[in-house]
Amino acid sequence: MEFSVKYKERKIPFVLKPETSVLELKKILFSYSNIPHQLQILVSNEQPLSNEMGICDIEFTKDKLVHLTIDSNVDEVLSKFPEGEVTNYQKKMMVDIDLGNNFENRISAIKMMRRIYGYLYRVGQYQEQRLHELIQKTIPIADLVNSEMFLESEKAQIYLDSTEQAKPLLRCDQFNKAGRWGFLLSLMHWFKTKFFKWFGKIECPKCNAPMERQGYTAAFEEDLKYGAPRVEQFCCTSCKHLLRFPRYNSVERLLQSRIGRCGEWANVFAGMTTAFGYDTRLVLDLTDHVWVEVFNESTQKWIHFDPCEDISDKPLTYEVGWGKKLTYIIAFGPLEVVDVTPRYTQALEQVYNRRFEEYQLEENWFSSLLHKINSKLQEKVDPQILELVGKRNKSEQNEFELKITKRDLKKEETRSRISGFEKK
Ligand SMILES: [Zn+2]
Repeated sequence: MEFSVKYKERKIPFVLKPETSVLELKKILFSYSNIPHQLQILVSNEQPLSNEMGICDIEFTKDKLVHLTIDSNVDEVLSKFPEGEVTNYQKKMMVDIDLGNNFENRISAIKMMRRIYGYLYRVGQYQEQRLHELIQKTIPIADLVNSEMFLESEKAQIYLDSTEQAKPLLRCDQFNKAGRWGFLLSLMHWFKTKFFKWFGKIECPKCNAPMERQGYTAAFEEDLKYGAPRVEQFCCTSCKHLLRFPRYNSVERLLQSRIGRCGEWANVFAGMTTAFGYDTRLVLDLTDHVWVEVFNESTQKWIHFDPCEDISDKPLTYEVGWGKKLTYIIAFGPLEVVDVTPRYTQALEQVYNRRFEEYQLEENWFSSLLHKINSKLQEKVDPQILELVGKRNKSEQNEFELKITKRDLKKEETRSRISGFEKK
C-alpha cells in the first residue's frame, strides 16, 4: 500500500507492505517524528487504530490510507533530544499507569507524561561536573562576590582556606548562610542585566527593518547536536533577508548563544544554580512560562526565582500581577516531580476546576502518576538522601495546606510582566 506521511510541512511518500506490523509502522514513524513508538497512537477519523500509547494522525480516502500526519504540536520537548537517548530514558522511566478508555483522555494523559519526561530529561543534564566547570568559568565570580547585593546580605562571607581554594569548583556551602543567599540574588541580577538576552521583536541585521516570524525551518546537524530540531525562521519585511533562531536545549550551547525566551532563561539559570551546589528545581507553568525554585537551608523552604523578571520569593506574581489563569505548575528536580501549584495561587479550588475543564485528568490520576514517577527516580538512591527528600516534601505539603487558608500578598507581586516588553 502506498501512502504519504505529512510531517512539519514535509510530505514523504512510502510503501507499506501488507505484512507490516503496527510496531514496524511505528518504528518507521519514529524515524520521521522522533516520537518513540511507545508514545504513539495511530488514529483514523478520531478513532485509535491501536491501544498502544502515542500520537499521530492517519487520514483515509476511499478506505485507502493516503495521508498520515504526526502531531508535532503535542509537546516539543522530547523531540529536542537525540532520539536514542530519549528512547532509552523513556524506557527506563516508563511507569505502569491506566490511561483510561476515553480517547481524549488518553491523548491528554500521554501529553502530560511526555511533558514530564521531557523536563526530567532536561534537568538530568544539570548534574554533569563538566558543565559545572564550564558554567563557573563563564561567570565573573569575583565581581559577584564584590557586588553590593552580595555584601548587603548582612556580613556575607566566604569560608575559604588554602585547601578549599585548591578545589576546582566554588560551592554555595563555602559561604555563610547570608552569603549563600546573597550570592544567589547577585547571580540572578547579573544574569538578567548583563548575561542573557530576550529574543523578542527583532530587526533585520542588514537594513534594520522589522522581521516577521515565518514558522519553522529545517534544522542543521549543528542544531540537532545541541538539542534544537525546532528552528524558527524570520524574514525581513523590507529586504527579505532570512534569519534562523534554533531553540537550543543544551545549557552548554546556550552559555554561548546567551539568548532565548523564558524556557532558555530558566534552563540556563537552573544549570547555574546547580553548578554552585544549590538544590534546584526547574518549574513549568503549563499556561506558558518557566522559572526556577531553590531550596533555602535557613528557612527550609523552596523559594521561587524568576530570572526573566529578576524576582525571587514572589510566587503570586503570575496570578495577581500578570492576571494568569493558572492550571498546572510542576517542579522538576533530579529526584522528584512535584505539583507545586498551591504555592502560586490564592484560588486553588478554581485552579483544580480549570485543570479538569482543560485537561480532563482526574486529580487522583495525576498524583498517582507523580508518585509512580518519583518511585522510579528514587529507586537506587542512598537512604539518607531519600530521608532528606521525604522530610522536605512533607514540610512542603504542610506549607501548601497552610497557604489555602492564609495568604499575604506582597506589593511586588502585583507588578505586571517585564520580560519581552523592555526597551533595548
Ligand atoms: Zn532587511
